[in-house]
Amino acid sequence: MMTPKKSLQEIQLDLQSGDYSMSELVDSYLQYAKKHESLNIYIELYEEEVKKQANRIDQQIKNGAQLGALYGCVISIKDIISYKDHGLTAASKILDGYISPYHATAVERLLAEDAIIIGRTNCDEFGMGSANENSIYGPTKNGADEHRVPGGSSGASAVSVQMNTCLIALGSDTGGSVRQPASFCGVYGLKPSYGRISRYGLIAYASSFDQIGILGHGPDDIARVLEVSAGKDPMDATSASRPIDRYSADKVISNPKIAYFSSLIDHEKLEENIKNNFLQILEQLRSSGASIVEKGFEFADYLVPTYYVLTTAEASTNLSRYDGVRYGHRSESSSTLEDMYVNSRTEGFGKEVKRRIMLGTYVLSEGYFDAYFTKAQQVRRLITEEINKVLEECDFIILPTSTSLPWRIGEMKEDPVAVYISDMYTVLANLTGLPCISIPSGNNTDGLPFGIQIMSKKYSEHDLLALAKSLKSATT
Ligand code: GLN
Repeated sequence: MMTPKKSLQEIQLDLQSGDYSMSELVDSYLQYAKKHESLNIYIELYEEEVKKQANRIDQQIKNGAQLGALYGCVISIKDIISYKDHGLTAASKILDGYISPYHATAVERLLAEDAIIIGRTNCDEFGMGSANENSIYGPTKNGADEHRVPGGSSGASAVSVQMNTCLIALGSDTGGSVRQPASFCGVYGLKPSYGRISRYGLIAYASSFDQIGILGHGPDDIARVLEVSAGKDPMDATSASRPIDRYSADKVISNPKIAYFSSLIDHEKLEENIKNNFLQILEQLRSSGASIVEKGFEFADYLVPTYYVLTTAEASTNLSRYDGVRYGHRSESSSTLEDMYVNSRTEGFGKEVKRRIMLGTYVLSEGYFDAYFTKAQQVRRLITEEINKVLEECDFIILPTSTSLPWRIGEMKEDPVAVYISDMYTVLANLTGLPCISIPSGNNTDGLPFGIQIMSKKYSEHDLLALAKSLKSATT
């Protein structure tokens, strides 16, 4: 079985020189997907159409026709992003049988540049989770150790890249769902600035936090996919009209000033081996000419509570549309309209989603609105001001990606709060709307991957990817 190459540039050169055809390339991805079926990566593989599309590209190469910027790029999409005429469930029973009537803008843009979508990947229901265990399709397993979780909610997206079943995965990141699984599976994961990629066609979880994110083997491929998918979209009023940089162009970042927060690194929840790996990376950066600045940050213990108050509030509103009337699952055991709403939602939503709808409804209720929702909004503003102040002085902020290494499947099921706390380092980028990338930073002695995050000023994805690139060449 042919092992697919790991960069789009190499793939395109190979296709042009006839080393292999696009059809052979997709065959090998499909074979890898089947070989690793037991990891539960794909909800659906689009085998027949993928083969047809590959054939078309082979014909075009043969005829010397002009091809799009992403020919040769095979992408998996999380089952939360719309792909016209394909099933879409957000891993929830409530959307059972739903077929997407339109493309997400990001998907449309990728297809227009000749990317091929190989299938839709498993995830946590509506993106709610950190381990890919909250899915009607069952858990996805980590390719580094199949007794362990791949992270979440875009867990299967990360495994799809980790196990060479595609080159790129499109996920979504509301509080770390692209970066944390990337870190658990030893791949790269970028959450762009809020508004950089249109959210049109992305099933909403918490609208002021959600962003489509990109997972891949390296910053170069991610840059090329970002270049195509980013940009203003009339269908999403929150998409940024700022021009798109040429993220794939080389850029030198010399002697960057990088901040880290002692309160986050000395935090009791951070596992010792992750802390040591983090400190090692700091040393490496220092010796390659970066100045490392230690900063105080007084909001360490407010990150997770602020995130969960605000996202559950937004989720309770966003998920009110699933009422048994408009989409997917409708209960058959109801005699009145009211009953039908209640029964459809009771039968359709999983436990974690119900927990969050209830929490969100509570913090938005009349007697508690100011104490929780308004307060959390104020804290969000304070956190954002504080971080932006640090980024006026420094170019980047560096953080661990997760407080822990991938845990055993089932191990944390009964302790949702402990799982929430493990999101401490990733939610910061969503609370502030800033771009952030998770970079693989080694493995422990059992082969479990470590990851670190780098965050930068709003819309400075080019700098972020350039720094990630220089770190990659220093470590490989
Ligand atoms: N783990 C976080 C949560 O459960 C993040 C999820 C996400 O980014 N979609 O909310």
